[in-house]
Amino acid sequence: MSQHAALFASYHNHTTWSDGSASPADMIRAARGAGIREFGVSDHFCLSPYNSGSVCAVAPESLGDYVQDVERAGCAVPDMEIRLGLEVDYFEETFEASVALLQLYSFDYIIGSVHCVDGFQVDVDSGSWSALAPERRDRIWLLYWQRLRAAAETGFFDIIGHFDLPKKFACYPSSDLTAEALKTLDAIVRSGAAIEINTSGWDKPAREAYPSLFYLREAKRRGIPLVISADAHEKDSIDRYFSRARELARTAGYGETACFEHRKRSLRKI
Ligand SMILES: [Zn+2]
Ligand SMILES: [Zn+2]
Repeated sequence: MSQHAALFASYHNHTTWSDGSASPADMIRAARGAGIREFGVSDHFCLSPYNSGSVCAVAPESLGDYVQDVERAGCAVPDMEIRLGLEVDYFEETFEASVALLQLYSFDYIIGSVHCVDGFQVDVDSGSWSALAPERRDRIWLLYWQRLRAAAETGFFDIIGHFDLPKKFACYPSSDLTAEALKTLDAIVRSGAAIEINTSGWDKPAREAYPSLFYLREAKRRGIPLVISADAHEKDSIDRYFSRARELARTAGYGETACFEHRKRSLRKI
């Protein structure tokens, strides 16, 4: 396979069911145009213990319609494999309630992500980060690593989303929290979950995929499986930086990525 050939599978993609700009059918058509053979839709699902009025996610009462819509869109493309996923915000407080709802449906994979800690949304804008006092910034980073670790420790998730997301706006902690991040990788390997190279980071102020090469090498050293994701919210970003991500994966020592069906994982050469 040439360096520029399309990736076989891509799982982390959003549609108008959450904060994406295109329908599942339109995203699937774009994926086919990009040469992706196995495509997953993974809209946000978020039972927030905080004020959740503005959360852009599939509503619990709409989960059945979401599932049906993705399955229907998949039936229209018999030459592709369409996978049913979801990106679930992990909150200790609402985890059991989330699982109870998700178990009503037959997902191919569930991505576990942390976007919000202690009521602070880590990925919304740089202004909210620059307004933080240094101690508060450090605290947010620390809580992030702890919450992501707790998400992995549930053993529920198939993929852990955008490992080092708080770096998005290039606001880094003043103290070295590498040990906390590595403990989180240890929890991920124990859980059996995969991580992703999430290429959206290359478009953000951090100018780096999630995770950094350092953490990717640490993940590989631990034997954590990998997927490559665009975290696409629009058709144009369906395969953004995939060649670059493949090179990054190889640099870190990965020769395979994971595929998912009915929450069972298999490996495929990159
Ligand atoms: Zn996310
Ligand atoms: Zn996402």
